[in-house]
Amino acid sequence: MDNLAYKMQAMCISNRSRTSIHDKVRVCFYGRVSTQHEEQVNALSNQLQWYETILAEHPNWEKVNVYVDKGVTGTQAKKREGFMQMIKDAEKGDFDLICTREVSRFARNTVDSLQYTRQLREWGVEVFFYNDGIWSLEQDGELRLTIMSAMAQEESKHISERVRAGQRISREKGVLYGNGNILGYRLIKGKKSIDNTYEIIEEEAETVRMIYDLYLTGMGAKTIAGKMVEMKRKKADGTYNWEHLSVLRILNNKTYAGYISYNKSYTKNFLGHKRVTVRDVSQYEYVKGNFPAIVSEETWNRVQAIKSKKVVIVDGRKCSKPISKDKWCRHLVCECGSVYGKYKWRTNKNGEVSNGYQCRHQIRYRKRSFHEKQGLDGTGYCNVPAICEWKLDFMAKSILERLWKDQKSSVEELLQDIQDNYSEETGITDREYQIEKLKRESERLKNRMSNLVDMKLDDLIGSEEFEDKKCTIDERMLQIKNELAILSQDEEDNEPVEVEGEIKKIKEYLNGVCDLNQKQLSDELVDAVIARITPMENGAFKWYIQGEEYDTETSFDESKYVLYDRFTLNFEEAKKYRKAFGNFIRAVQWKDLIVEVYIRQD
Ligand SMILES: [Zn+2]
Repeated sequence: MDNLAYKMQAMCISNRSRTSIHDKVRVCFYGRVSTQHEEQVNALSNQLQWYETILAEHPNWEKVNVYVDKGVTGTQAKKREGFMQMIKDAEKGDFDLICTREVSRFARNTVDSLQYTRQLREWGVEVFFYNDGIWSLEQDGELRLTIMSAMAQEESKHISERVRAGQRISREKGVLYGNGNILGYRLIKGKKSIDNTYEIIEEEAETVRMIYDLYLTGMGAKTIAGKMVEMKRKKADGTYNWEHLSVLRILNNKTYAGYISYNKSYTKNFLGHKRVTVRDVSQYEYVKGNFPAIVSEETWNRVQAIKSKKVVIVDGRKCSKPISKDKWCRHLVCECGSVYGKYKWRTNKNGEVSNGYQCRHQIRYRKRSFHEKQGLDGTGYCNVPAICEWKLDFMAKSILERLWKDQKSSVEELLQDIQDNYSEETGITDREYQIEKLKRESERLKNRMSNLVDMKLDDLIGSEEFEDKKCTIDERMLQIKNELAILSQDEEDNEPVEVEGEIKKIKEYLNGVCDLNQKQLSDELVDAVIARITPMENGAFKWYIQGEEYDTETSFDESKYVLYDRFTLNFEEAKKYRKAFGNFIRAVQWKDLIVEVYIRQD
């Protein structure tokens, strides 16, 4: 690290901690090591040397303590003695800063992390996540969002992992799933699922190769689909119903290059009005399979390269389509059909840069008004006004607030889902239900027994009948007693999962994510909820909300959407919104924002 960068970093540290640059920052380190095997625990403590390196980088840090939790996977979570001690010491004010390696290793889960960082913040203790470069007391909202989104990602992983634990175990072993209904392959079931493999069906494999070859000649998916019909090539289902999507699916499937892709399952997104299904291609993992490839790896790679550069036609116009890193650029499509570019709108007095977005067609060919001012014919030029970033956030938040009037019920619904999944996972509710049921039956039997005795005493039944019935009841009572004993035994053995506690945490976490009071919405939230935004020349904005089926730019179909809500955001509302973040707007420059919300009608 050069000297300047070093000084900068030292300054940043002093700004972030409560002490001045001359004072020492009292720091403690927290590490969690886990392993599959007990005997590795000691060896792992050597790995804690990482903090020495960090200490050397920060000369004004004074090491106060090192807290470590060691344990075997799955059991260390409960104890966490080191962590709990550290929290106690933090409350006493033993140190100013906790340095830990990464968000995911800090607490049991990310909900936990969030709660503890908040608690620590109240005590004035900062947490520095070294690998993630996150300082928990950082004023910048961006950073908090970074933490949030890191957590969101982790959390969804956490939930899905529980839900799909069984699947995950199979994945780790490299099991092929499915009904084997994939064009070109036949699923051969092994003795165990791990031995499952694919065998090539030559006739179908030929179709797959054709599709890849035609695509490499520059032919589009739609044209290829037509060719397939023409050439009477069958699909996996035996039909000739080729569509451009079926071609794309084949071009997207790495199985054909001999790989198994994991994590393809859909993640349920709980934030939307309706549930949103998200397919995150970036989260696919590929593992070499135990079956032959149909196309070479080189072919596969070339096809992927072309796909990522491919020009798409939006409303009859060609747009270059590399997926933008900017969340708004990913969704903005001009009324004229062009995509959007981001630029620096202005620098505010406080040095904060605000961004603007403008139609790319305009950036390239200038606005219609420009041509007309020159006395030229403006026909064919776009005149949709540019938009600044905060207005997009403002509109999005207003839409979300309106859409989620029933947010609470949506969260409740999700929690029910999670709870159900937990029950499947742990059998907790099932066991409780069983116990309850047996107890009720036992009550009923006791009643019947007492009735039976009454009847006998009143001579309504004979001795033989009484003995017979009593015997049946006694037998069943004994059975119930044994079953209850087994069920409660299970409970002790299994250390019941604290479902209620977990659910409570998830709930708090969800409320945190659904909190719209942040300056900028997270990328994930925008991607999950918004399919497309179309600014119009008349000043209106069309917002298309993602439906159950996740829309991408290639699959977006405007005709499937209907107007759901239309509202105006006026100067007063905008002023109030801006003021919350310490910004001001002038009435002279203000134009009301007309927001039209479209939802998918399937
Ligand atoms: Zn335009």
